[in-house]
Amino acid sequence: MRKQIILLFAALLLILPMQAQAAKKVHWKLATTWSTTLKPLASSGPKLAKMVEEMTGGNFIIRVVGAEKHKAPLGVLDMVKGGQYEMAHTASYYWKGKDISTIFFATFPFGMLAEELAAWNWYGGGNELAEEVFKKFGVYHFPGGNSGVQMGGWFKKEIKTLDDLKGLKMRIPGLAGEVFARLGVNVTNIAPGELYTSLDRGTIDALEWVGPAMDLKMGFQKIAPYYYTGWHEPGPDLEFLVNRKAMNSLSPEYQAILKTAIRAVAADSLTENFTENALAWDKIKTEYPGVHLKTFPEPVLQAMKKATDEVLDGYAAKDPEFKNIYESQKAFMKKMRAWSNVSTGEVLNTAELVGE
Ligand code: CA
Repeated sequence: MRKQIILLFAALLLILPMQAQAAKKVHWKLATTWSTTLKPLASSGPKLAKMVEEMTGGNFIIRVVGAEKHKAPLGVLDMVKGGQYEMAHTASYYWKGKDISTIFFATFPFGMLAEELAAWNWYGGGNELAEEVFKKFGVYHFPGGNSGVQMGGWFKKEIKTLDDLKGLKMRIPGLAGEVFARLGVNVTNIAPGELYTSLDRGTIDALEWVGPAMDLKMGFQKIAPYYYTGWHEPGPDLEFLVNRKAMNSLSPEYQAILKTAIRAVAADSLTENFTENALAWDKIKTEYPGVHLKTFPEPVLQAMKKATDEVLDGYAAKDPEFKNIYESQKAFMKKMRAWSNVSTGEVLNTAELVGE
Protein backbone atom coordinates (compact mmCIF):
# COMPACT_ATOMS: atom_id res chain seq x y z
CA MET A 1 0.00 0.00 0.00
CA ARG A 2 2.73 2.40 1.03
CA LYS A 3 4.68 1.52 -2.07
CA GLN A 4 1.60 2.24 -4.20
CA ILE A 5 1.15 5.68 -2.58
CA ILE A 6 4.78 6.53 -3.21
CA LEU A 7 4.40 5.47 -6.84
CA LEU A 8 1.24 7.58 -7.15
CA PHE A 9 3.07 10.63 -5.78
CA ALA A 10 5.96 10.02 -8.14
CA ALA A 11 3.52 9.87 -11.06
CA LEU A 12 1.80 13.07 -9.93
CA LEU A 13 5.15 14.84 -9.67
CA LEU A 14 5.81 13.93 -13.30
CA ILE A 15 2.34 14.88 -14.58
CA LEU A 16 1.85 18.16 -12.70
CA PRO A 17 4.66 20.12 -14.36
CA MET A 18 3.43 18.93 -17.77
CA GLN A 19 -0.07 20.19 -17.00
CA ALA A 20 1.32 23.48 -15.72
CA GLN A 21 3.20 23.91 -18.99
CA ALA A 22 0.18 23.10 -21.14
CA ALA A 23 -1.85 25.71 -19.30
CA LYS A 24 0.83 28.38 -19.69
CA LYS A 25 -0.80 31.51 -21.00
CA VAL A 26 0.63 33.92 -23.52
CA HIS A 27 -0.42 37.56 -23.31
CA TRP A 28 0.50 39.85 -26.19
CA LYS A 29 -0.34 43.39 -27.23
CA LEU A 30 -0.97 44.51 -30.81
CA ALA A 31 -0.81 48.21 -31.76
CA THR A 32 -2.75 49.39 -34.81
CA THR A 33 -2.00 52.40 -37.01
CA TRP A 34 -5.78 52.92 -37.19
CA SER A 35 -8.04 54.13 -34.45
CA THR A 36 -10.55 51.50 -33.35
CA THR A 37 -13.43 53.04 -35.31
CA LEU A 38 -11.56 53.24 -38.64
CA LYS A 39 -13.22 50.21 -40.23
CA PRO A 40 -12.78 48.18 -42.40
CA LEU A 41 -9.02 48.72 -41.78
CA ALA A 42 -9.47 48.43 -38.02
CA SER A 43 -11.44 45.16 -38.27
CA SER A 44 -8.42 42.92 -38.80
CA GLY A 45 -6.67 43.27 -35.41
CA PRO A 46 -9.68 42.17 -33.33
CA LYS A 47 -10.50 39.37 -35.80
CA LEU A 48 -6.96 38.01 -35.47
CA ALA A 49 -7.11 38.18 -31.67
CA LYS A 50 -10.43 36.31 -31.59
CA MET A 51 -9.22 33.60 -33.96
CA VAL A 52 -5.98 32.98 -32.04
CA GLU A 53 -7.80 32.91 -28.71
CA GLU A 54 -10.32 30.36 -30.00
CA MET A 55 -7.69 28.15 -31.63
CA THR A 56 -5.61 28.00 -28.44
CA GLY A 57 -8.53 27.33 -26.11
CA GLY A 58 -8.16 30.79 -24.57
CA ASN A 59 -4.45 30.41 -23.81
CA PHE A 60 -2.98 32.88 -26.31
CA ILE A 61 -4.49 36.29 -25.72
CA ILE A 62 -3.73 39.29 -27.94
CA ARG A 63 -4.92 42.68 -26.69
CA VAL A 64 -5.53 45.13 -29.54
CA VAL A 65 -4.63 48.74 -28.79
CA GLY A 66 -5.95 51.39 -31.21
CA ALA A 67 -4.14 54.57 -32.25
CA GLU A 68 -6.50 56.69 -30.13
CA LYS A 69 -4.93 55.02 -27.09
CA HIS A 70 -1.23 54.59 -27.89
CA LYS A 71 -1.16 57.95 -29.77
CA ALA A 72 1.57 56.86 -32.19
CA PRO A 73 -0.11 55.66 -35.42
CA LEU A 74 3.15 55.93 -37.36
CA GLY A 75 5.30 54.77 -34.46
CA VAL A 76 4.10 51.17 -34.40
CA LEU A 77 7.15 49.75 -36.21
CA ASP A 78 9.44 51.27 -33.57
CA MET A 79 7.18 50.02 -30.80
CA VAL A 80 7.27 46.44 -32.12
CA LYS A 81 11.00 46.66 -32.76
CA GLY A 82 11.54 47.90 -29.19
CA GLY A 83 9.29 45.19 -27.75
CA GLN A 84 6.68 47.47 -26.12
CA TYR A 85 4.22 45.70 -28.39
CA GLU A 86 4.69 42.17 -29.74
CA MET A 87 2.64 42.96 -32.84
CA ALA A 88 1.24 45.71 -35.04
CA HIS A 89 -1.31 46.02 -37.84
CA THR A 90 -0.30 48.74 -40.25
CA ALA A 91 0.92 49.33 -43.85
CA SER A 92 4.54 49.01 -44.89
CA TYR A 93 4.75 52.15 -47.06
CA TYR A 94 4.62 54.22 -43.89
CA TRP A 95 8.27 53.16 -43.36
CA LYS A 96 9.45 54.64 -46.66
CA GLY A 97 11.49 57.24 -44.74
CA LYS A 98 13.34 54.46 -42.87
CA ASP A 99 13.79 52.16 -45.87
CA ILE A 100 12.39 53.02 -49.29
CA SER A 101 12.18 49.31 -50.23
CA THR A 102 9.23 48.90 -47.83
CA ILE A 103 6.88 50.43 -50.46
CA PHE A 104 6.91 47.19 -52.45
CA PHE A 105 5.04 45.39 -49.67
CA ALA A 106 2.23 47.96 -49.81
CA THR A 107 1.79 49.62 -53.21
CA PHE A 108 3.06 52.28 -55.59
CA PRO A 109 1.45 54.25 -58.46
CA PHE A 110 0.51 52.07 -61.45
CA GLY A 111 1.58 48.99 -59.45
CA MET A 112 -0.16 45.70 -58.80
CA LEU A 113 -3.78 44.88 -58.05
CA ALA A 114 -4.49 43.07 -54.78
CA GLU A 115 -4.56 39.60 -56.32
CA GLU A 116 -1.46 40.26 -58.43
CA LEU A 117 0.42 41.43 -55.33
CA ALA A 118 -0.75 38.37 -53.36
CA ALA A 119 0.57 36.19 -56.19
CA TRP A 120 3.97 37.91 -55.97
CA ASN A 121 4.03 37.68 -52.16
CA TRP A 122 3.26 33.97 -51.95
CA TYR A 123 4.38 32.54 -55.29
CA GLY A 124 6.76 35.10 -56.77
CA GLY A 125 9.37 35.51 -54.03
CA GLY A 126 7.86 38.64 -52.45
CA ASN A 127 7.68 37.27 -48.90
CA GLU A 128 11.33 36.18 -49.05
CA LEU A 129 12.38 39.67 -50.16
CA ALA A 130 10.24 41.22 -47.39
CA GLU A 131 11.99 39.00 -44.83
CA GLU A 132 15.37 40.50 -45.81
CA VAL A 133 14.04 44.08 -45.59
CA PHE A 134 12.23 43.69 -42.25
CA LYS A 135 14.90 41.55 -40.55
CA LYS A 136 16.91 44.76 -40.23
CA PHE A 137 14.19 46.14 -37.94
CA GLY A 138 14.05 43.04 -35.74
CA VAL A 139 10.54 42.19 -36.91
CA TYR A 140 8.76 39.64 -39.08
CA HIS A 141 6.48 41.05 -41.79
CA PHE A 142 3.36 39.21 -42.92
CA PRO A 143 0.93 40.32 -45.64
CA GLY A 144 -1.96 41.59 -43.52
CA GLY A 145 -4.88 42.35 -45.83
CA ASN A 146 -5.60 44.76 -48.64
CA SER A 147 -7.85 47.79 -49.04
CA GLY A 148 -8.47 47.01 -52.71
CA VAL A 149 -8.28 49.72 -55.39
CA GLN A 150 -8.07 53.18 -53.83
CA MET A 151 -9.78 56.10 -55.53
CA GLY A 152 -7.86 59.02 -57.05
CA GLY A 153 -9.53 61.42 -54.65
CA TRP A 154 -11.96 64.30 -54.36
CA PHE A 155 -11.45 67.50 -56.33
CA LYS A 156 -13.38 70.76 -56.09
CA LYS A 157 -12.65 71.56 -59.75
CA GLU A 158 -12.45 69.26 -62.74
CA ILE A 159 -8.94 68.40 -64.00
CA LYS A 160 -9.07 68.90 -67.76
CA THR A 161 -5.42 69.50 -68.60
CA LEU A 162 -2.00 69.21 -66.99
CA ASP A 163 -2.14 72.95 -66.32
CA ASP A 164 -5.06 72.41 -63.93
CA LEU A 165 -2.65 70.53 -61.64
CA LYS A 166 -0.20 73.41 -61.40
CA GLY A 167 -0.44 75.13 -58.03
CA LEU A 168 -3.31 72.88 -56.93
CA LYS A 169 -3.17 72.31 -53.17
CA MET A 170 -3.69 68.64 -52.46
CA ARG A 171 -3.33 66.21 -49.61
CA ILE A 172 -1.72 63.14 -51.14
CA PRO A 173 0.98 61.36 -49.11
CA GLY A 174 3.69 58.92 -50.09
CA LEU A 175 5.15 58.21 -53.48
CA ALA A 176 2.06 59.56 -55.27
CA GLY A 177 2.73 62.88 -53.51
CA GLU A 178 6.25 62.87 -54.96
CA VAL A 179 4.78 62.18 -58.41
CA PHE A 180 2.19 64.95 -58.13
CA ALA A 181 4.82 67.38 -56.83
CA ARG A 182 6.77 66.79 -60.06
CA LEU A 183 3.65 67.81 -61.97
CA GLY A 184 3.41 71.11 -60.12
CA VAL A 185 0.92 70.16 -57.40
CA ASN A 186 1.41 71.84 -54.05
CA VAL A 187 1.45 68.64 -51.98
CA THR A 188 0.63 68.66 -48.26
CA ASN A 189 -0.09 66.03 -45.67
CA ILE A 190 -2.89 66.67 -43.20
CA ALA A 191 -4.05 64.58 -40.26
CA PRO A 192 -7.21 62.57 -41.02
CA GLY A 193 -9.23 64.44 -38.39
CA GLU A 194 -8.65 67.78 -40.17
CA LEU A 195 -9.23 66.65 -43.75
CA TYR A 196 -12.91 67.59 -44.04
CA THR A 197 -12.48 71.10 -42.61
CA SER A 198 -9.37 71.76 -44.72
CA LEU A 199 -11.21 70.84 -47.92
CA ASP A 200 -14.37 72.66 -46.88
CA ARG A 201 -12.53 75.90 -46.02
CA GLY A 202 -10.31 75.79 -49.09
CA THR A 203 -7.03 75.22 -47.24
CA ILE A 204 -6.69 72.45 -49.83
CA ASP A 205 -8.38 72.07 -53.25
CA ALA A 206 -8.29 68.29 -53.39
CA LEU A 207 -7.44 65.22 -51.37
CA GLU A 208 -7.20 61.48 -51.62
CA TRP A 209 -8.18 59.27 -48.72
CA VAL A 210 -9.07 55.61 -49.35
CA GLY A 211 -12.15 54.49 -51.26
CA PRO A 212 -15.94 54.82 -51.10
CA ALA A 213 -16.41 53.01 -47.75
CA MET A 214 -14.04 55.20 -45.78
CA ASP A 215 -14.51 58.36 -47.89
CA LEU A 216 -18.29 58.35 -47.44
CA LYS A 217 -17.94 58.37 -43.66
CA MET A 218 -15.68 61.43 -43.92
CA GLY A 219 -18.37 63.31 -45.88
CA PHE A 220 -16.17 64.50 -48.77
CA GLN A 221 -19.03 63.86 -51.23
CA LYS A 222 -20.84 66.86 -49.75
CA ILE A 223 -18.11 69.39 -50.48
CA ALA A 224 -16.16 68.23 -53.57
CA PRO A 225 -18.14 67.19 -56.67
CA TYR A 226 -15.40 65.45 -58.70
CA TYR A 227 -14.46 61.93 -57.63
CA TYR A 228 -11.52 60.49 -59.61
CA THR A 229 -10.81 56.84 -60.32
CA GLY A 230 -7.62 55.31 -58.96
CA TRP A 231 -4.09 55.21 -60.32
CA HIS A 232 -1.77 55.66 -57.34
CA GLU A 233 -2.76 52.82 -54.97
CA PRO A 234 -4.06 49.99 -57.17
CA GLY A 235 -4.01 47.37 -54.41
CA PRO A 236 -2.31 48.47 -51.20
CA ASP A 237 -1.36 45.62 -48.92
CA LEU A 238 -1.62 46.05 -45.17
CA GLU A 239 0.77 44.20 -42.90
CA PHE A 240 1.13 42.46 -39.57
CA LEU A 241 4.46 43.00 -37.86
CA VAL A 242 5.72 40.64 -35.17
CA ASN A 243 8.71 41.17 -32.90
CA ARG A 244 11.22 38.45 -33.82
CA LYS A 245 12.18 37.54 -30.25
CA ALA A 246 8.53 37.29 -29.22
CA MET A 247 7.72 35.07 -32.21
CA ASN A 248 10.72 32.81 -31.61
CA SER A 249 9.74 32.38 -27.95
CA LEU A 250 6.39 30.86 -28.93
CA SER A 251 5.92 27.10 -29.17
CA PRO A 252 5.91 25.72 -32.74
CA GLU A 253 2.15 25.09 -32.36
CA TYR A 254 1.41 28.70 -31.40
CA GLN A 255 3.64 29.98 -34.19
CA ALA A 256 1.68 27.86 -36.67
CA ILE A 257 -1.63 29.06 -35.24
CA LEU A 258 -0.58 32.70 -35.42
CA LYS A 259 0.69 32.42 -39.01
CA THR A 260 -2.44 30.59 -40.15
CA ALA A 261 -4.72 33.14 -38.45
CA ILE A 262 -2.78 36.03 -40.04
CA ARG A 263 -3.23 34.53 -43.50
CA ALA A 264 -6.95 33.95 -42.93
CA VAL A 265 -7.49 37.47 -41.60
CA ALA A 266 -5.54 38.95 -44.52
CA ALA A 267 -7.80 37.22 -47.04
CA ASP A 268 -10.85 38.31 -45.08
CA SER A 269 -9.67 41.93 -45.11
CA LEU A 270 -9.77 42.13 -48.91
CA THR A 271 -13.25 40.59 -48.94
CA GLU A 272 -14.55 42.99 -46.30
CA ASN A 273 -13.00 46.04 -48.00
CA PHE A 274 -14.39 45.00 -51.39
CA THR A 275 -17.90 44.54 -49.97
CA GLU A 276 -17.91 47.78 -48.00
CA ASN A 277 -16.57 49.76 -50.97
CA ALA A 278 -19.15 48.32 -53.35
CA LEU A 279 -22.01 49.09 -50.95
CA ALA A 280 -20.73 52.61 -50.26
CA TRP A 281 -20.25 53.30 -53.98
CA ASP A 282 -23.85 52.28 -54.56
CA LYS A 283 -24.88 54.73 -51.84
CA ILE A 284 -22.83 57.60 -53.31
CA LYS A 285 -24.34 56.94 -56.76
CA THR A 286 -27.91 56.88 -55.54
CA GLU A 287 -27.88 59.42 -52.71
CA TYR A 288 -25.42 62.01 -54.04
CA PRO A 289 -26.32 62.68 -57.70
CA GLY A 290 -24.12 65.81 -57.60
CA VAL A 291 -20.98 63.65 -57.48
CA HIS A 292 -19.33 63.29 -60.90
CA LEU A 293 -17.18 60.22 -61.40
CA LYS A 294 -14.12 61.10 -63.48
CA THR A 295 -10.97 59.49 -64.84
CA PHE A 296 -7.97 61.77 -65.38
CA PRO A 297 -7.51 62.70 -69.06
CA GLU A 298 -5.00 60.59 -70.97
CA PRO A 299 -2.25 63.27 -71.20
CA VAL A 300 -2.47 63.74 -67.41
CA LEU A 301 -2.24 59.98 -66.85
CA GLN A 302 0.71 59.72 -69.26
CA ALA A 303 2.50 62.48 -67.33
CA MET A 304 1.76 60.71 -64.02
CA LYS A 305 3.19 57.46 -65.38
CA LYS A 306 6.33 59.18 -66.68
CA ALA A 307 6.86 60.95 -63.35
CA THR A 308 6.27 57.67 -61.46
CA ASP A 309 8.94 55.88 -63.55
CA GLU A 310 11.36 58.75 -62.92
CA VAL A 311 10.79 58.63 -59.16
CA LEU A 312 11.17 54.83 -59.01
CA ASP A 313 14.21 54.77 -61.33
CA GLY A 314 15.77 57.51 -59.19
CA TYR A 315 15.52 55.36 -56.06
CA ALA A 316 16.73 52.27 -57.96
CA ALA A 317 19.86 54.13 -59.09
CA LYS A 318 20.77 54.91 -55.47
CA ASP A 319 19.75 51.71 -53.68
CA PRO A 320 20.72 48.20 -54.92
CA GLU A 321 18.19 46.45 -52.66
CA PHE A 322 15.39 48.68 -53.99
CA LYS A 323 16.53 47.96 -57.55
CA ASN A 324 16.53 44.21 -56.94
CA ILE A 325 13.00 44.16 -55.49
CA TYR A 326 11.70 46.60 -58.11
CA GLU A 327 12.97 44.35 -60.89
CA SER A 328 11.47 41.26 -59.28
CA GLN A 329 8.07 42.92 -58.94
CA LYS A 330 8.12 44.50 -62.39
CA ALA A 331 8.97 41.23 -64.14
CA PHE A 332 6.33 39.31 -62.18
CA MET A 333 3.71 42.01 -62.69
CA LYS A 334 4.13 41.88 -66.44
CA LYS A 335 3.01 38.24 -66.48
CA MET A 336 0.25 38.70 -63.89
CA ARG A 337 -1.15 41.78 -65.68
CA ALA A 338 -1.30 40.06 -69.05
CA TRP A 339 -3.49 37.39 -67.45
CA SER A 340 -5.57 39.98 -65.50
CA ASN A 341 -6.35 41.70 -68.80
CA VAL A 342 -7.25 38.50 -70.61
CA SER A 343 -9.30 37.09 -67.71
CA THR A 344 -10.91 39.71 -65.43
CA GLY A 345 -10.50 42.54 -67.94
CA GLU A 346 -12.29 40.66 -70.73
CA VAL A 347 -15.07 39.42 -68.47
CA LEU A 348 -15.74 43.04 -67.46
CA ASN A 349 -15.59 44.24 -71.08
CA THR A 350 -17.95 41.48 -72.17
CA ALA A 351 -20.40 42.18 -69.34
CA GLU A 352 -20.44 45.84 -70.39
CA LEU A 353 -21.24 44.84 -73.97
CA VAL A 354 -24.14 42.55 -73.16
CA GLY A 355 -25.55 44.55 -70.24
CA GLU A 356 -26.13 43.56 -66.64
CA1 CA B 1 -4.83 56.59 -49.75
